[in-house]
Amino acid sequence: MPQQQALAALHEQIRACRKCQQAGYWIAPGPVVHGVHTAPIMTIGQAPGPTEAVVKRPFNAGSGKRLFEWLGEAGFDEAEFRVKMYMTAVTKCYPGRSAGGHGDRVPGKEEQALCRPWLDREMALVNPRLIIPIGRLAIALFFEAKLPLEKIIGTQSEQNGRIVVPLPHPSGASTWHQMPAHRALVKKAIRLIAKQRKLLGM
Ligand code: SF4
Repeated sequence: MPQQQALAALHEQIRACRKCQQAGYWIAPGPVVHGVHTAPIMTIGQAPGPTEAVVKRPFNAGSGKRLFEWLGEAGFDEAEFRVKMYMTAVTKCYPGRSAGGHGDRVPGKEEQALCRPWLDREMALVNPRLIIPIGRLAIALFFEAKLPLEKIIGTQSEQNGRIVVPLPHPSGASTWHQMPAHRALVKKAIRLIAKQRKLLGM
């Protein structure tokens, strides 16, 4: 099956997925998946937010505004990025508000494990040259989970022939990227992404 059709079939399967709900977790049914099989770059976020779940557009709201400011500094145009790249998440359904009411609930380990086969299949089909994990949950897929973000943001690694450049979560609920000491690390990560963009011929 050509890649394009294979990805369309995968998206259909993912959109029909209700595994977390069936396992007893509260999620807003209706996974968010977005992107093309030719994408040289894949972003992996934590999980969609409430507006993403409605409009089915990753990083649609406030955190998306900040993310695309960062990617804009790396030389990307948002509209073009959304058309040509692949944007996915560790879990693909909105997990609801956190118990404390501050930000969204972080999907638990079992939910992450339930969703992981979808992400593995997306990565295998799209085969991106550059992966940008966004936020701790996605970063933990590629970097030692115990390392503090200070030791990870502003670095890159090579895994299975792909370059991985992590970014912190850009949501307003996260204060990490707003701390003055961390802004320099975010700038460093943006420079690494800009360099990869050039190497990819963009
Ligand atoms: S989060 Fe992932 S595994 Fe869980 S129901 Fe949604 S698509 Fe399925």
